[in-house]
Amino acid sequence: DVRVRFPPSPTGNLHVGNVRSALFNYAFARHFGGTFVLRIEDTDAARSTEESYRGVLEALRWLGLDWDEGPEKGGPHGPYLQSERTDIYRDVVARLLEGGHAYRCFCTREEQEARAALLPKGAPSGYDGHCRDLDPDDVATRLERGEDSVVRIRVPEREIAFDDLVRGRVSFDGAHVPDYVVVRANGNPLYTLVNPVDDALMGITHVLRGEDLLSSTPRQIVLYEALAELGIGSGRTPRFGHLPTVMGEGNKRLSKRDAGSGLAEYRQRGFLPEGLLNYLALLGWGLSEDRDVFGLDEMVAAFDIRRVNANPARFDPRKCEAINADHIRRLSTTELTPHLVPFLVAAGLVEDPPTGAQQQLLDGVVPLVHERMSTLSEIVEMAGFLFTADDALELDPAAGLGAKESDLEALRAAISVLSEVRSWQAEDIQAALRASLVDGLGIKPKFAFAPVRIAVTGRKVSPPLFESMELLGRTSTMHRLRTALQ
Ligand code: GLU
Repeated sequence: DVRVRFPPSPTGNLHVGNVRSALFNYAFARHFGGTFVLRIEDTDAARSTEESYRGVLEALRWLGLDWDEGPEKGGPHGPYLQSERTDIYRDVVARLLEGGHAYRCFCTREEQEARAALLPKGAPSGYDGHCRDLDPDDVATRLERGEDSVVRIRVPEREIAFDDLVRGRVSFDGAHVPDYVVVRANGNPLYTLVNPVDDALMGITHVLRGEDLLSSTPRQIVLYEALAELGIGSGRTPRFGHLPTVMGEGNKRLSKRDAGSGLAEYRQRGFLPEGLLNYLALLGWGLSEDRDVFGLDEMVAAFDIRRVNANPARFDPRKCEAINADHIRRLSTTELTPHLVPFLVAAGLVEDPPTGAQQQLLDGVVPLVHERMSTLSEIVEMAGFLFTADDALELDPAAGLGAKESDLEALRAAISVLSEVRSWQAEDIQAALRASLVDGLGIKPKFAFAPVRIAVTGRKVSPPLFESMELLGRTSTMHRLRTALQ
């Protein structure tokens, strides 16, 4: 029975690397009909926030990565917030100490540094095992006296190896893995403890996570083995698959601080969840050589962790947009429109819900822009002019309307010919303008319609002009043309 987990630390906003991990775990679980566990790693009380926790749940819901066990869902291995599992960890630590898998260490930082300074150059760094074999009575006395101590795991001096599902055989020399701290002097358990302890207690079978955590895997394996010996948890060390590093600009690891790394940004810009997930899937995996665009269901059906590429994956914002554009095109216009409304509402352009008149404009304009959109928020730029009051329309100064006498001439001619147009339809508008500006005045089409476009839409680039004018209506169009002349 496959059981995987997504264990975010609620210390900020989810970034695309986190989401990629969540996605691969989700796809793996769903492919095998397994269980996808959401566990909140909030033992770092100073950095964890309620807001971030809420944000994580909300983001997963938006993405459609629904979890089977976890906060709000419950499950047989709860609670799923580590901050609510303190008693469990205390008990596990006591048993690890009792079984000799862990020990108390009283070394101060100064003592450790002083000893390290005496070592020859090139000697292994890290803790030297000074407190490994203290006399138990001695330990008891020092604890009674109230001396500060941390708890360390005893790492055996042997090879620690595992078959990584992505990278193949990975091996570490235990002699170079120092005995590591799992409980602070103040009694707080650390990630190093609670992450593998919960994996064991929650029966996790596969750990799929970023390559940056590869170096913590040998330590965790030591701990899983100790827990198994003590009969704590499932008794089986999970299989590991370390997902390739995501690289950002300048061939550096994409970091939380980099632009384009936060999930929130993609929501604000109007990525479709399916589009973003599709792109994130490509960071290490692919459906097939000749198909970059696919849905989550197709990924689930085909997902194979062994086909994940171990090489670093480059995050390409343009490709991400292009994939999203494909997903936008996959929707029908009727499906797309409701996705666009919130962006127009947020921009103060339409009401929520849109009025009848606004809905009519939407029905008219969405088909005109559908094919050209790569993010939903672009609707504001593309169609905003239709929902703006005539007198509030601002002409893009960069468009430079009115700088040339020929522009004004074109506008005057347009006004005069359009007042004569019988039916206000794109074809008739186009025919009239063409006859007057191109044939009559001899302006090249390229230049003839630009001033009209700017006057009516405010911009140099707009949806198809004549259809836009039809949608906007005769009165508004004429008003805008006249205003631009003043
Ligand atoms: N809380 C850890 C993180 O968000 C989990 C890492 C893991 O998957 O083991 O980095």
